[in-house]
Amino acid sequence: MMTFFPTPLNEELLYSILARYHIFSGNNTLADTMKDIYNNHMTVASVMLPARMNLLVENLPKNNLYSADYFIEEHTLYKYFVAFFDAERRDNIRNLMKKNNGGLVHAYCGLRRSNYRINDYLKICPKCMINDMETGFLTWKRVHQLNISLCPFHDCALYNTKIPLKNINRHAFVPLKKELFKTMTIIDYNKEKEQILQKISLMSQELLDMDIVAKDREWFKTQYIELLKIKGYCNVNGVISRSRLLEDMESFFSMELLSTLNCEFNIQAKQNWVLDLVRKNKSDTSTIKHLIMIIFLESNINEIFNLKLTYQPFGSGPYPCLNHFCKDYMKSVINMIDYSYYDEVKRTLGTFKCHCGYTYKLIEGKSLSSALVVDYGELWLDRLENVLEKKLSLNKTAKSMYIHKNTLYNALSRYSVKHHFIRKASVGRKYNC
Ligand SMILES: [Zn+2]
Ligand SMILES: [Zn+2]
Repeated sequence: MMTFFPTPLNEELLYSILARYHIFSGNNTLADTMKDIYNNHMTVASVMLPARMNLLVENLPKNNLYSADYFIEEHTLYKYFVAFFDAERRDNIRNLMKKNNGGLVHAYCGLRRSNYRINDYLKICPKCMINDMETGFLTWKRVHQLNISLCPFHDCALYNTKIPLKNINRHAFVPLKKELFKTMTIIDYNKEKEQILQKISLMSQELLDMDIVAKDREWFKTQYIELLKIKGYCNVNGVISRSRLLEDMESFFSMELLSTLNCEFNIQAKQNWVLDLVRKNKSDTSTIKHLIMIIFLESNINEIFNLKLTYQPFGSGPYPCLNHFCKDYMKSVINMIDYSYYDEVKRTLGTFKCHCGYTYKLIEGKSLSSALVVDYGELWLDRLENVLEKKLSLNKTAKSMYIHKNTLYNALSRYSVKHHFIRKASVGRKYNC
């Protein structure tokens, strides 16, 4: 049982709060402090994702305002590691952190697999330390302990201390002290890719700051596929240009940087984490890999979590009717488009059908003047019959129908419309009246 508890500071790791408790408690040994907090001096301190939160809260001084959920969300890296997990898996991990299953927490978060490299030491930002000194307490910050070497608050390089982060000694609660300055070593990072690292660092902090939004794997997969379509790496039928995507990702990030982040991939292999992110029924991929994908696709955390992304090669619609005789001519009345893939030009083809029956096709990126009529529809054909009754010349009839005379003749033939025009047998595309 604790008789007092230090006020947790912004972005401070629970580990850091407990280290400050240890110093202020006057306990002679760390075992005594462990007993105060967890009733058991044999507990192992975990830095990034500690467990036994319920026990900690039970042992807080009476009338305190803190809950296990508060510590999990505000003073651990929980929100970062579970950001892309579905609600069920998030809840499982949260419950494990409340109970006594510290080992399982790391396993459920993917920290025991080879895809996440935990830093050897606790890290600090010198500028954050200077800020802390002004407020009176030096604190270990949670975001600095991720495998990113820049501070999101100051865009500056982090330093390694000599305090181990993994394989941490039993009972080791080491408060951050000024003396640690002497033994710190700056962490080398890829300066050519500094902007990318800064983005990763800022996005990581954004995940820690945001309210929990639980989306499932299918949500993220669909978001990425829509973005791949927008960027031209996936056609409208969902076929991904695999080699081009992987090559472009490699040249954008460099394999050296990806390797530093434990996110390298084999371009030749049929399976790798990039493709896993956009395929069905694949195992969960770590947060850092999602961040890399989001950066590559020029998206951001808010867009990926909160906006339903849709590939719209012809804009957001509704789209206009091109039938001059329709009451909605050139008005935005067509809501639905049928998409197909025009392999010859490697573009999406849209089919637009108005309520008047007039239907046209358009290639992605082309203007309306290049639209190809698929069906003129009953309204247009009725008007054609009315005009034909006037027995005008081919030219005048075509003009009345707002089309070229050759197009008119093709339409007459296609819809088997009786007419008074006589085609000149000897001349290719000429008619008389
Ligand atoms: Zn900083
Ligand atoms: Zn229409």
